[in-house]
Amino acid sequence: MDSTMQSPPLLISQILKFGSRIHADQEVVTCTEDGTRRMTYAEVGKRSAQLAHALRGLGIEGDKRVATFMWNNAEHLIAYFAVPSMGAVLHALNIRLFPQQLVYITAHAGNEVVIVDNTLAAPFSQLLPRLTTLRHVIVNGPVEDSVREALAAPDHIESVHDFYELIDGQPETYDWPTDLDENSATSMCYTSGTTGNPKGVAYSHRSNYLHSTAVAMCLGVGQGDRLLTVVPLFHANAWGFPYLCFMAGASIIMPDRFLQAGPLARLLTEEKVTSGGGVPTIWNDLVRYLDEHKPDVSSVRRLMVGGAACPPALMKAFQERHDIEVVHGWGMTEMSPVGTLAVPPVEAEFGSEEYWRYRAAQGRLLPGVEARLIGPEGDEQPWDGASVGELEVRGPWITASYYSNGEEPQTELDEMASKFDDGWLRTGDVGALTEDGYLILTDRSKDVIKSGGEWISSVDLENAIMGHPAVLEASVIGVPDEKWGERPLATVVVAEGQSVTADELRDFLDGKLAKWQLPERWSFIDEVPKTSVGKFDKKLLRSRYAGGELEVTQLD
Ligand code: ADP
Repeated sequence: MDSTMQSPPLLISQILKFGSRIHADQEVVTCTEDGTRRMTYAEVGKRSAQLAHALRGLGIEGDKRVATFMWNNAEHLIAYFAVPSMGAVLHALNIRLFPQQLVYITAHAGNEVVIVDNTLAAPFSQLLPRLTTLRHVIVNGPVEDSVREALAAPDHIESVHDFYELIDGQPETYDWPTDLDENSATSMCYTSGTTGNPKGVAYSHRSNYLHSTAVAMCLGVGQGDRLLTVVPLFHANAWGFPYLCFMAGASIIMPDRFLQAGPLARLLTEEKVTSGGGVPTIWNDLVRYLDEHKPDVSSVRRLMVGGAACPPALMKAFQERHDIEVVHGWGMTEMSPVGTLAVPPVEAEFGSEEYWRYRAAQGRLLPGVEARLIGPEGDEQPWDGASVGELEVRGPWITASYYSNGEEPQTELDEMASKFDDGWLRTGDVGALTEDGYLILTDRSKDVIKSGGEWISSVDLENAIMGHPAVLEASVIGVPDEKWGERPLATVVVAEGQSVTADELRDFLDGKLAKWQLPERWSFIDEVPKTSVGKFDKKLLRSRYAGGELEVTQLD
C-alpha cells in the first residue's frame, strides 16, 4: 500500500524559511574586537535572499560551487543558508590546511566564487594566483587598497566585491526553488588528509535535514537555547549547528577569530550561553581560565565535545568545579559528522560510577546510525562492551563514497573505494559497543600500539596521564622496540608552575592500567603539535621521534 502522506523534498530553504519566520527574533551574535554585533534570524533570512540574488548575478546557477574562507560569523551563516537554498553547493574551505592542500581541494571541487573574511584576505591573496578555478572574490569587511589590488591581480579573477556593497539593494526575498531533489548536494567538506590527498564528501539537503534533527533531539537543544559554536563552520559541517539552531529556535553565538579562553569565557557570561560545541583542546584551555578567573557561567548547562577523545578528567573538572555537563560526541566528516552522543540516561544516578561510565564513552548511537564491529579476522564482533573491532557504519547522513570529479588516477579511486565495505563506511576507528549501543573507542586503527602481539590503547594511556594534576596535555604514540615490536612513548606537557618526573607519572599510572601497558619512554615537550582541526598530530610526533628531535627519558 502506498502511504497517504505528502512528501515534499526536505530542503535547506525550508529550514531557512522556518527559522527566519517562526524564530524571527532569535539571533546570531558575532564576537568582535570591541564587543559583539547581532543580527536576528529574520534578518539572516533577508540577507540570505540578497546574497542569493548577488551570486546569481555573478553567474552562480545550477550546482556551481561557492567557497568560503571565513571564521564563524554572521556572514558565514548567511552563506550556509543562501548557497544551498538556491540549489548551488557551498564549500567551506578549512583555513588551516596547508597551501598545497587548499590549491588541490579548490580545483578538485571546482569552486568559482569565494567569500573571504577581511582578516584573512592578505594571506588568501597570496594563495589566489594558484586557485585558478575562482572567478570572483567577495570580501567580508574593509581591507586596505593594497590587499584589494592583490586580490584583483590574478588574470583569472574577473571581479572583487565588498560583501555588503554587493548585496545591499538586492531584493530581500528570493523565490527559493522547491523542486530541488532532496538528495542533491548542498555542501562539501574535505577530510584533512592525513594520508594522500584530502578526500571530499558532498552532503545533501536530506542528509543535513535528518542529521540536524537527530543531533538537536539527542543533544537536547530547544527554543531559546544559546549555542556557542566554537567548532568551525569549515570543519565537519560545523556538527550541524547552523541548521539545528534554526530548526530548534536557538540563538547561535559565533566567536569569529577570538578563540582564546578569555574571549570565549566573556561570551559565555555576557551572552548567557546555555550550550556549545568544540574540540577538547579548546575546552581544556577554557576550564583552566574558569578555574583562575571564576566568571559567572551559571547559564551554561551543557557543552558538546568531539573530534578527539575527551579525557574524563576534563569532563569532571567542568562538572565538579563549574556545574557544566561536557557531553562527549563521536563522528567523522564522512558522517555529517555526528554518530554518537554521550548524554547519560536519566536512570543512571548522577555522579555514580555507572553515570561516569556512560559519560566517558564516546556515546550512544544516534537513531538512524547503524553500526557493526569487524574483528582482525574479518569476523563480526558481539556488542558486549569488551570485544574490540573496527567500527563500520551506515545510515542516511553517512557518505556512500568520496566525491570524484572524474579526473583522479586509478590508484586514488582504489584508495577511495577501499574505505567502503559492502555499503558500510569503514571508520578506521577501533573500539567496542555495549549491548545498549554505547561506543567505547580505544583508538584509531593507525594509532593503536601493537606490543608483543597485544594492543595498547594510546587513548587510555593519555586519559590516565592527563588525570594527573600537573599534566596539561599528554599524547602517546607507538615507537619501534626491538623486543616487543612496538612500545608506547608518552609525550607530556607539564602545566604552568607545576613539575613532575617520569618516575612519578609512572607510579601514578600504577593500578590504573595493566603493568605491561605502562610506558618506559617519556618525553617532556612544550606543546603537543595539533592538526589543522585541532587534534593531536601523532604523525608529526612520530616523525620527530624518528628524526631524533625528542629528548626521551627511559625508565627500567
Ligand atoms: P579528520 O579526519 O579531518 O581529522 P574528522 O573530524 O572527520 O576529521 O575526524 C574523524 C575522526 O576523529 C574519527 O574517525 C575519530 O578517529 C576521531 N574522533 C572524533 N570524535 C572522537 C571522540 N569523541 N573520541 C575519539 N575520537 C574521536
